[in-house]
Amino acid sequence: MLQIKNAWQDFTHLFFPALCAGCGTDAVGTAAPLCISCIKELPLTNFHLHAGNPVEKDFWGRININAATALCHFTTGTLIQQLLHQLKYKGHQELGYFLGRLMAASLQQCDRFDGVDVLVPLPLFASRLRKRGYNQSALLCQGMSGVLSVPVLEDAMVRLSATDTQTQKNRIQRWKNMEDRFSVLSPEALAGKHVLLVDDVITTGATLEACGQQLLKMENIKLSIAALAYTV
Ligand SMILES: [Zn+2]
Repeated sequence: MLQIKNAWQDFTHLFFPALCAGCGTDAVGTAAPLCISCIKELPLTNFHLHAGNPVEKDFWGRININAATALCHFTTGTLIQQLLHQLKYKGHQELGYFLGRLMAASLQQCDRFDGVDVLVPLPLFASRLRKRGYNQSALLCQGMSGVLSVPVLEDAMVRLSATDTQTQKNRIQRWKNMEDRFSVLSPEALAGKHVLLVDDVITTGATLEACGQQLLKMENIKLSIAALAYTV
């Protein structure tokens, strides 16, 4: 039976070649959307192993977090930028699940993220979600969920669009206001939980900070953060 299955996969591979999302080679198996050499080339940070790592330092004095990490360093013109492009703009959803599984596997190498109860993806604006068809951070969460056996709460929060009343404000006020506009829809599902807030890339951390602030208003909540990539 296995032989038949493999033969069928080889056969379909001829007509629908699966290409590596990183380098485009067709030397990929059915288990991963990346080839072995791209997986090896991922610029891992290993931040999860270290308290006081650069991601955590970014949030010091801003929001109270339990632990934070990012799987990879982000640099332009490299593999990780190509993967983020595939994930966000080329509809490569399988890549999101796969990278989420890698993120979860790294968290399991230490005890700093133990006891996470729920995974919450950073919400997208509704208009962006409609256009893209999916939230890339939610895909990362789905991949993580399979490894960690922790549920994903995709609709626990919403990111609100700027309203017309803001058109009178100056640009900086408007920007600040937009960054701030997250709202918790299911407080009862989050109170008393250790929440892992998940995003694709951390740049300034301002968006995660704004979202985290709303989460931290929930009773007895513990907040940790995980991202796919971190840009200095
Ligand atoms: Zn590759």
